[in-house]
Amino acid sequence: MELLNINNLYTIAQDDHDKKILKGLNLVINEGEIHVIMGPNGSGKSTLANTIFNSYRYLKTDGKIVFDNNDITNEKTDVIARLGLFMSFQSPLELPGVSQTNMFKAITKKDIFSLQKDVKAKMSDLNIDYDYIKRDFNVGFSGGEKKKNEILQMMLLNPKLVILDETDSGLDVDAIKVVTNGIKMYKTENNAALIITHSTKILEGLDVDYVHVLVDGKIIKTGDLSLAYEIEKEGYQKYLNENNN
Ligand code: ADP
Ligand code: MG
Repeated sequence: MELLNINNLYTIAQDDHDKKILKGLNLVINEGEIHVIMGPNGSGKSTLANTIFNSYRYLKTDGKIVFDNNDITNEKTDVIARLGLFMSFQSPLELPGVSQTNMFKAITKKDIFSLQKDVKAKMSDLNIDYDYIKRDFNVGFSGGEKKKNEILQMMLLNPKLVILDETDSGLDVDAIKVVTNGIKMYKTENNAALIITHSTKILEGLDVDYVHVLVDGKIIKTGDLSLAYEIEKEGYQKYLNENNN
């Protein structure tokens, strides 16, 4: 079944209407699939992730986004999240004064006892010290710990589609393996993942269905996992040249 359908999406920056970012982007993700997006810095990857969530920072000038049979093109971000979409941020926010426990209680709406059991098991899967549960949300966490905390929230929420925006960047090899394992534990035939990355490390051991190359606001090539290895080895130059012709 089709989970996400992005059709002919055009996006400009909210605070600079002359800044065209996405320029006719199409993407379909079905249940059970893992998609990867790679692309040079500034090509629009994070904009795409944020635009799916209808972030106030971007304005859609054309196109349509349907998620799980709901037209979410102009839907509010919290409604979109409740429909079963989850995004791991490229730079996760710190929330002083909000404990991890309270955050997890708020997002899962679980009672403290069943939550504790669930969180404990998942933190251990992710190699996060259980003491972190008492700390303020992301406050003073290292870059890697913040990213693991994102994966923990993903596992607690069990969404239908996850979008991971460079969750692997800044992580050491062991932490990347932990993140990959988290994705493996989450993934079933009934959900899907969209992984934005610059490297193939996070993909090792995952059943990747499609790799897309995003250049200048458009997907200009789609292939299988071999495309990711090709880009890792040879870079984007070839695609940049093709795009200019
Ligand atoms: P990527 O994630 O692929 O590196 P981004 O989606 O973050 O790229 O950015 C794409 C382009 O849009 C960049 O040139 C960036 O500077 C610009 N951009 C992104 N957000 C804004 C914004 N809120 N206002 C103005 N320009 C923006
Ligand atoms: Mg980005």
